[in-house]
Amino acid sequence: MFKKTATLLTLCGIMVGFTSFVRIPPPQMPLLRTVVIDPGHGGFDPGTHGLITKEKDIALAISLQLGKMLQQAHPGLKIVYTRTTDIMPGNKPNVLEGIRYRAELANRSGGDLFICIHCNATRQPAGSYPVKRLVRYRITGKGAHKRSIPVYSTTWVRNTVHGTACYIWKADRNVNKSDAISRREELLDGENMGDSTGTAFDLTTPEARMRSLLYEKKYFGNSTLFGTLVEREFVRTGRRSEGLVQRQEGIGVLQATGMPSVLIETGYLTNKEEERYLAGRKGQAEVARNIAAAFKHYKDQVEGREKRADN
Ligand SMILES: [Zn+2]
Repeated sequence: MFKKTATLLTLCGIMVGFTSFVRIPPPQMPLLRTVVIDPGHGGFDPGTHGLITKEKDIALAISLQLGKMLQQAHPGLKIVYTRTTDIMPGNKPNVLEGIRYRAELANRSGGDLFICIHCNATRQPAGSYPVKRLVRYRITGKGAHKRSIPVYSTTWVRNTVHGTACYIWKADRNVNKSDAISRREELLDGENMGDSTGTAFDLTTPEARMRSLLYEKKYFGNSTLFGTLVEREFVRTGRRSEGLVQRQEGIGVLQATGMPSVLIETGYLTNKEEERYLAGRKGQAEVARNIAAAFKHYKDQVEGREKRADN
């Protein structure tokens, strides 16, 4: 009797174990539900400029096309824009408040991915610029009055720097405030991020440290993955890629968003050919298509339908 009960119990146990083992898992919710698209600059802040265009306009045109393409390809996806017209997001009166608004909107919307669209520039002027070169010395005067005078010639040099890049924020636990501020000044002077630069956020608060840790653990890998996939698509189209650039500091908007975030430099407006490409409908559509294709791979990879490119 005892033996029988024991056997029965064991059998029941096995069956319970078995049924719990074969229980069909509930349908999986998509992991990537909300994408925040952030067209750089806007309103009083034009960003950089080329010979015929301003960064804020190109960034907006590409962003809107990208949103449309993503919506078409993924009907269930929620798309949030930080701006859809030529304004500083949130109609904020200055750039730093604009950055704060962008980040807060992204966080409030429960974004799963944050995509900033920008255009790059060199320190040299757009198109071509004059360069003075020493050619020779001319001797004048005689005896004690003999002098050599440099003779220069001016040549026009084309601004040839071109290509795309993806910026991600490298989380750094040891960053301290004074360091952050000094780097910020350094970066504000640079051409790249005069806009999204600026540590508008106090990195010494417990919240910021927590976010930094979380970013490092959870989001940094996915930011890297998305950036890599975007650059891969650009290269496939024949664009030059400067690759993935990790910034320790200075991309305030990326730093403040609690989600994987990438800043895409879609090309140099200071390069005449690249500016023409980015100014045209065809070029803008191609850039948007590249990012949308990368997004498709990214979504499939983070949701487990495709092998991760970084594995
Ligand atoms: Zn910019």
